[in-house]
Amino acid sequence: MSSSTTPNIGSLLLPIDREQVGEEMHSFIADLFPICRSITGEGIRETIGYIGRRIPLDVSEVPTGTPVLDWTVPREWNIRDAYVADATGKRVIDFRESNLHVMSYSVPFRGRLDLGSLREHLHTLPEHPDLIPYRTSYYSESWGFCLSQRQLEALTDGEYEVCVDTSLLEGHLTYAECYLPGASQDEILFSCHICHPSLANDNLSGIVVSTFLAERLARVDRRYSYRFLFVPGTIGSLTWLARNESRLERVRHGLVLASVGDAATFTYKRSRHGDAEVDRAAEHVLRYAAPDHEVIDFSPYGYDERQYCSPGFDLPVGSLSRSRHGRFPEYHTSGDNLAFVHPAALGQSLAVTLGVVEVLEGNGTYRNLSPKGEPQLGRRGLYPSMGGRDAEAQQMALLWVLNQSDGRRSLLHIAERAGMPFADIRTAANRLQEHGLLAPVEGTPDMARDL
Ligand code: ZN
Repeated sequence: MSSSTTPNIGSLLLPIDREQVGEEMHSFIADLFPICRSITGEGIRETIGYIGRRIPLDVSEVPTGTPVLDWTVPREWNIRDAYVADATGKRVIDFRESNLHVMSYSVPFRGRLDLGSLREHLHTLPEHPDLIPYRTSYYSESWGFCLSQRQLEALTDGEYEVCVDTSLLEGHLTYAECYLPGASQDEILFSCHICHPSLANDNLSGIVVSTFLAERLARVDRRYSYRFLFVPGTIGSLTWLARNESRLERVRHGLVLASVGDAATFTYKRSRHGDAEVDRAAEHVLRYAAPDHEVIDFSPYGYDERQYCSPGFDLPVGSLSRSRHGRFPEYHTSGDNLAFVHPAALGQSLAVTLGVVEVLEGNGTYRNLSPKGEPQLGRRGLYPSMGGRDAEAQQMALLWVLNQSDGRRSLLHIAERAGMPFADIRTAANRLQEHGLLAPVEGTPDMARDL
């Protein structure tokens, strides 16, 4: 890969108007919120259709029964209606009020049950009595309803009419990808899950950040190619991996985006490598953009990084979130609603992902062409004529790049060593290159890892 034509992507992407774009992102989430999604079915297609109005998408339909790695594409699930009605015909649990009320992948059922038998199919969260839990039953055939503990306590003895008007039939698993070709075939992968019903942070926030990021990247020159995956969790990423195994060496960096809309501070979860370039880029960006973030090491739990980072693939894919997977009280409940995600948080998450892209696009390794002693900067007009803090920082950036550019240390490595933002180091490198003092070195910018 050549670094000589690195586009200054950052100047085109940053800064963004976080407030305004955050509001736009929130209303995108609000539009998608009511759709009843699951790992297959019309809800996913409708969601993909909506994303496809903003960015170009290739949609894949993979038939039920298709083997994918150690798994099999399941039957397709769809729902028309579901309710529990009391003796007067009044719906006491109603899918039309919240799609969380029906356990995802519930098999069809119609019948009359007394409260005792019905209760075996009801799920609540006694410790959060006002919240409806989100439950699934993808791989065992059953039906169920979810409701708040208070709603359950209000049910009186008697007979209830139960209707689960669903279908579980041979069909397809649907996923979509947005591919943006760059100068290089090497790819940066972004992945988010699209399989949850009305849950705003855990699901829709990742979708909206991915979509808005792709939309911006589509408008600029790119060194890397980009692939955005919109896949149902687990089975979707497994299906994509199974169908693209021969092309995976193109994936040079990747990020899973999930739970990026709530008010919590950022958590970056490293790839299985632990020190992949994307790991160092994300940590570098967060250090300046969100100093109160947390960085955690890889663990084989969480979102689809589990699949991308399984040992047979071991892709350099990290994961960006705010609240951590499973660790917030609203997680997988009706509390993860439109009020739980905030425009400012969404805008900031987009800015951080743009920052990571900016580093990965701009990183490279260079050689100082005048390495014996410091070259005379004043003679070349590189010495700042005015004083002040900015001038001092610019000068330090020039000196760091000159000193560390021995053909092995990348600009990201230099930025970290100098304790300076990547953009300053990148700008210094551009100026030195313009003055014939610096030349790019072919090869990966990762060599500094081994130093
Ligand atoms: Zn989830």
